[in-house]
Amino acid sequence: MQFSEIPGLEELKKQLVSAHTRGKIAHAQLFAGRPGTAVLPMALAYASYLMCENKTEVDSCGTCANCVRIKKLVHPDIHLHFPKVSAVENKYEKVLAEALPRFREFVAESPFGDLESWTRKYGQENKNLLISRQDSRQMLKNVSMRSVEGGYKILLIWVPELMNSSSANAILKILEEPPEKTLYLLVSYNYDSLLATITSRTQLVNVPPNTTDEVQNYLAAKGIEGSRAIQAAKLSEGKLGLAFHLAEAGDSHEYEDFQTWMLECWNRNLTGLVRRSEDFSKSGKASQKTTLNFAISLIRNAVVHASGQQPAAQSETEAAFIGKFADKLGLPKLEKVYALNNEALIHLERNSNPRITHLNLSLDITRVLNG
Ligand SMILES: [Zn+2]
Repeated sequence: MQFSEIPGLEELKKQLVSAHTRGKIAHAQLFAGRPGTAVLPMALAYASYLMCENKTEVDSCGTCANCVRIKKLVHPDIHLHFPKVSAVENKYEKVLAEALPRFREFVAESPFGDLESWTRKYGQENKNLLISRQDSRQMLKNVSMRSVEGGYKILLIWVPELMNSSSANAILKILEEPPEKTLYLLVSYNYDSLLATITSRTQLVNVPPNTTDEVQNYLAAKGIEGSRAIQAAKLSEGKLGLAFHLAEAGDSHEYEDFQTWMLECWNRNLTGLVRRSEDFSKSGKASQKTTLNFAISLIRNAVVHASGQQPAAQSETEAAFIGKFADKLGLPKLEKVYALNNEALIHLERNSNPRITHLNLSLDITRVLNG
């Protein structure tokens, strides 16, 4: 991954290069941004830059042995740690051997992908993934090993917020006292949930979302045709991963589905709502979260509209729908529906029963809409 493969964010790229040029590289850095933004690509481009044998003043070369191996995620001095299914003690190697090739494919196919897309690629939609204590033991091992090629040794920890507290505590010491030329790059989508003892030992690298124009140009360069690229870029809130997803989904089925759902609530269509919650529970954890997140972002736009402001970004069809939806419900009801969806998402993340959670949500919304 090179900086040039990431659209925009020029200021940040400059800062990262300049830290290297000035010899001021923090040994533990926390790349943080929202899911779907360029957080992981930025950390990988940075790792490539540090390791590249022919770097320029702005980017790695992309073709030297180090760049090529980092691109394939097979560099012996870059140790990857990422969320996996938990394994009983003696099965860790097996879990790792199965997960690692998939993770490499995932990063190659969807570098802007988030945890949900990883879960799908990994085929573990119904499992809670984590960075386990065995992973942290592996990290300690990585740190104690010498660098294979004599240069930097990098531990890249993707989604460190999924370390349980015992694995997080296990790595505190190595974060504090790293051996020479050892770097930790933590790549987080929710660094607020990391232990303060971890964040205080790292330097924060904030990776902001892209602008709508940057997303649109990027989609266009990837061959996605005009109006579809424009619409996906507008809806993506600067998240390249989401933009891809929306562009590929085309005329959003999720969007029509949301309309139907609201109508079912409106009409107190209990049979429809029960069937919907059953379909929802069969769709897998990742897809359940995507569905709720999509609803949340639509309702958020309706709330903005109802408050008399212009929602940030939307297609014409969506603007028309949101306008009607917002006018019909009014702000107090919209805010309730918005809060209910957020609560349901939190319940789901805490492993509540998806069928019951969704049915309760529908019934609560039915009460609000008809109240
Ligand atoms: Zn290179």
